[in-house]
Amino acid sequence: MKTEENNDERFSLSQFEEMQSRIAKLEKENKILKEELDSGNNNDNVITVLDNIPLALVNLDLEGNILFGNAFYYSLFDIDPNYNKSTDSIFNLSQIWGTNMLDSISQLVNDKKSFDIETELKHPGQKRIYKTRGLCIKNEEGTINSYLIIIGDVTVRKKAEHELISARDRAEESDKLKTAFISNISHEIRTPINHILGFLELLAMDNLELDTKKEYRDIIYRSSQALLNSIDNIIDIARIKSGQIKLKKSEININDLFNSVHSIIPDLQTKNGGRQLEIIKRIPQNSENLSICTDANRLKQIMVNLVENAIKFTHEGRVEFGYKIINNNSLNFFVKDTGIGIKEGDFDLIFENFRQVDYKNTREVEGSGLGLSISKGLADLLDAQIDVKSVVGKGSVFYLHFPNIKIDLKDNNTNPQPEIFDTGF
Ligand code: ADP
Repeated sequence: MKTEENNDERFSLSQFEEMQSRIAKLEKENKILKEELDSGNNNDNVITVLDNIPLALVNLDLEGNILFGNAFYYSLFDIDPNYNKSTDSIFNLSQIWGTNMLDSISQLVNDKKSFDIETELKHPGQKRIYKTRGLCIKNEEGTINSYLIIIGDVTVRKKAEHELISARDRAEESDKLKTAFISNISHEIRTPINHILGFLELLAMDNLELDTKKEYRDIIYRSSQALLNSIDNIIDIARIKSGQIKLKKSEININDLFNSVHSIIPDLQTKNGGRQLEIIKRIPQNSENLSICTDANRLKQIMVNLVENAIKFTHEGRVEFGYKIINNNSLNFFVKDTGIGIKEGDFDLIFENFRQVDYKNTREVEGSGLGLSISKGLADLLDAQIDVKSVVGKGSVFYLHFPNIKIDLKDNNTNPQPEIFDTGF
């Protein structure tokens, strides 16, 4: 009985030893597996992280072959991740990288020169801006063993920067304009008010000759008109800028409109130096009943402004104004003068608020510099285009072109005049 017990003890001891060694073996295997598993998991984790950062990452070997590209890189350039992967050299992708970027990558691969550039790459369908950095990657011994290229899409940021800069420029420009506005307007308003107050005081003096009284009254009248005109201009430009002008369109007879412009020419001449100029109205033959649908007052305002400028800036010679029918739905109004002219570089400028061309400070004429910008604003509202052709010393032609307007020819025999008005310059 005792012997059997000893046998049992021996058996369990050897079993125990065997089990111990099996456990040790299993633990070792487990450790290796765990290590493998751990390292595998880490790689996956790293790749998941790399795939999800909003930057394209490309790892190159020393020859420039792509070892790794994250998901963002493949989606950014619309490349199939399996595309020719084993032999994929970065230099085979030239069409997407563009020459600028490729040059920098060449320098990185050939001369180990890091780079940091901003470039426009042709993304399929659209152009986008990328900030790209290329670096050398070193191993523990400090030897370069690969390259890393990091690409960030900065299109939205660049656009925002651009918008900020242009908003700042616009704010600065508007600040300048406001300053110009205040100084111009205070001049335009103060001058006639000072005249009115001064000559009212003089009028109150005793023993004034009748002629002198009349002269003073005329000055007061003209100054009041100028004041009213400046206030109208300020209100108009403010309304145009804030989109508050409401057109009152109706069927109007064009020749009536031209006759009413013609009727105020003597006043415009008196107001602007009273020079004896030849004033010619040119309207097409048989056009008595011609009508268009527009805002008569606003159209007249533009024409009066153009004719007044022509008179104001012409010392001698002629001012012609009228219109031509280009075809059944296109009209060309014009005002032509033989005045001082405008140099080509100033053609756009004169349509801006308060812009006046001052020839070496020899300006002798009055004006706020608002007339043409108001005319342009009104022309836009009337679906017309205002334009100028001019030669310094010879004269100017201002056009008001209606490219698309319904012209009612009634039963008149008016033939469209296909040629554009010849400026003669
Ligand atoms: P204003 O006549 O009040 O100065 P406008 O806006 O009407 O303002 O005109 C702007 C500028 O354009 C004028 O100051 C002048 O320098 C130039 N200009 C306009 N019309 C003519 C013209 N017919 N001939 C020469 N210069 C002109």
